[in-house]
Amino acid sequence: MKHLAYEATKRGADLLAALALLAIAVPLAALALAPVRRGLLPRLAATTCIGRGGRPFALRRELLAGEGSRLAWLADWPVLLAIVAGHASLVGPRILSKGEAATLAAADRDRFAVRPGLVCTWWLQQRANIDFDSEAAADRRYLRERSLRTDLSILLRALLAMPYGPGDGRPRAVVHIAGIRLLNLGMDELVAAIEAALQGRASTQLAFVNPACVNIAAVDPQYRAALAHADWVCPDGIGMKIAGRILGRPIRQNLNGTDLFPRLCESLAASGRRLYLLGARPGVAEATARWAQQQFPQLRIAGTRCGYFDAEDEEAVIAAIRRSGADVLLVAMGVPAQDLWLRRNLKKTGARVGIGVGGLFDFYGGRIPRAPLWLREIGGEWVYRLIQEPRRMWRRYLIGNFTFLWRIARERIAAAPAAGQERWTQ
Ligand code: UDP
Repeated sequence: MKHLAYEATKRGADLLAALALLAIAVPLAALALAPVRRGLLPRLAATTCIGRGGRPFALRRELLAGEGSRLAWLADWPVLLAIVAGHASLVGPRILSKGEAATLAAADRDRFAVRPGLVCTWWLQQRANIDFDSEAAADRRYLRERSLRTDLSILLRALLAMPYGPGDGRPRAVVHIAGIRLLNLGMDELVAAIEAALQGRASTQLAFVNPACVNIAAVDPQYRAALAHADWVCPDGIGMKIAGRILGRPIRQNLNGTDLFPRLCESLAASGRRLYLLGARPGVAEATARWAQQQFPQLRIAGTRCGYFDAEDEEAVIAAIRRSGADVLLVAMGVPAQDLWLRRNLKKTGARVGIGVGGLFDFYGGRIPRAPLWLREIGGEWVYRLIQEPRRMWRRYLIGNFTFLWRIARERIAAAPAAGQERWTQ
């Protein structure tokens, strides 16, 4: 009964919303797309998609003379017709083409229990570039939790997440932001790159850079040098994504150490490589190791040590890591200390991959809870960190975020072509 009421209300809301949006979208498309329309009336192309109960339906899109236009997304307005016709919904698992649906595993076909939708949790995660659930897992979660409240909250978050879109242009493999050379990889590629580096003999240093790090690099030449010297520097956090967007250098994924950690543990458990955890307050690295061991019983932990020791103990710490036979060394001592430490000592430790991971152990060791998923999905993890430790974080976020945006705005202005110049002369 409850389900029936939900279904009926949802269908009513879909219908009303789609009709209202059509009333806006049709005249808007007529005006905005007029220069690229192929005739007086829109010409539509259909793709066969799979809807509720596995039933096929035609999803239409307007054909344009030039797809390069910034407004090309408006050509998708006929999707609203599919909602009116009852084939799709505003919220639901992503609409799949017949071809995509054919490749689904049998276990993932539950998603056809509901109408597919324009936005879903997966959409949100892609938007915020959080990528730790597979699409199938995100769909299963939606199926379990679906209710009017869930749908409304997804819609609301979708509106908030709009500015974090992929932006224009195709991401490049390497992008420069604020003078820092960033490797623009997806999370899976990064894990694969780490495994590949473990097969070589050279040592590879990896650093994650978020807006706070960019601010530090601007005033700290030693840190700047450590980043320039690091083999890979990856963009971390929603701020870097926004910067990439402002500068027209799209960032592919929010690649922070915290999201990397479980992926890396899984991969190291499979390859049999040893992991050493160095950093954080006494007991926290050990608690992190216990968490990892519980999640991935095959994982080999080479050792742990807290991140507070005197300079004269440094050699002993290095010797202990060396003796442990660690392959991968995670250093959680904050920025810039951890990156400077790795720069000085990674080779001496014998580990082939060293990664600076900031507050990672505090999260996994249970000292500080991580922001809830919904807040991370809308790019608000920093708000949570600010509320948790206002005295330590206010300067970093309240002042730092503006300093960072100001820096990026200046870079944008400096990079903009002078009036009258063509874009390719940039
Ligand atoms: N830390 C450490 N040794 C020090 C100073 C800090 O091990 O001398 C640890 C600290 O306990 C925390 C981490 O380094 O676990 C830094 O956390 P923070 O939240 O500042 O990381 P970030 O925000 O830089 O990623």
